[in-house]
Amino acid sequence: MPLVGLALILLAEVVEGPRTSFMGLLAAVPIFAAMFSRPAVTAMIAGVTWLAAVTFGLVSPERIGASDSLRLATIALAGILAVFASVLRQRLQVRLSSAEREAATVGEIRRMSETDELTGVRNRWGVLKFVSSQEADSQRTVAIFDIDGLKAVNDAYGHLVGDILITEVAWRLAGALAPTDLVGRWGGDEFVVVLDAPAASSAPILARAQAAVTCDHIQVTGHRIPVAVSFGVAEWPSGQPLDTALAAADTALYEAKLVGRKRTT
Ligand code: GH3
Ligand code: MG
Repeated sequence: MPLVGLALILLAEVVEGPRTSFMGLLAAVPIFAAMFSRPAVTAMIAGVTWLAAVTFGLVSPERIGASDSLRLATIALAGILAVFASVLRQRLQVRLSSAEREAATVGEIRRMSETDELTGVRNRWGVLKFVSSQEADSQRTVAIFDIDGLKAVNDAYGHLVGDILITEVAWRLAGALAPTDLVGRWGGDEFVVVLDAPAASSAPILARAQAAVTCDHIQVTGHRIPVAVSFGVAEWPSGQPLDTALAAADTALYEAKLVGRKRTT
């Protein structure tokens, strides 16, 4: 639009001479202003421009004739249109920014509903959402990791220390896996890991994850807290519901706990 305005002013310069060209320039000023300023400022600029046009007409050696009246009316009309344009632009901006805010809020609520508050990894709902969004045409592996002896840590050092242990395990687990692998807190001290590969090729990855989590101790508020996990692994054939694979992994975990913990079954 500004380019068209400039082209018309140049055309007026050529066809009608500098007087019409200058008046055209004045008419264009509030229209330019409408693109950037609020309606009140645009109205002020339109008024000032119109007064400038009147003054130019009065001090000009040429008398104000019929064509000058037409030019002044054109400038006034351009000013009114500019104010309307500015009001429209402002309303559109308000609507767009409230739509953006709404989208950001919806995104934040969705992220919070899928994230475990304590550890920052996915929660149970987040795991189910992620799994349902994946294409499932290949064999996958499901593992359930469970912290060994968390109850004893809670009892000995307090719930807060237990929380720190859960968080530490979550971060170590997530850090040991690829960003595309799924880690989620299934509840309490249990974490679910889903790998997009059959159990045979997942074994070294899971062993690496267990090694990354397990350590002699971590220091929490001056206490030496041993960190160990047991986990159960199950194949998750394509087409099978997650629940079935999870139940198999849970049975394997139970066996791992039975035979002495700190191991995989
Ligand atoms: P095991 O070696 O057999 O896994 O025994 P455990 O002591 O880890 O106990 P278990 O896995 O059977 O139960 C988990 C315990 O973890 C129960 C509860 O006291 C504790 N727990 C569950 N959620 C939280 C939590 O959010 N914070 C803390 N600090 N403790 C939790
Ligand atoms: Mg446990």
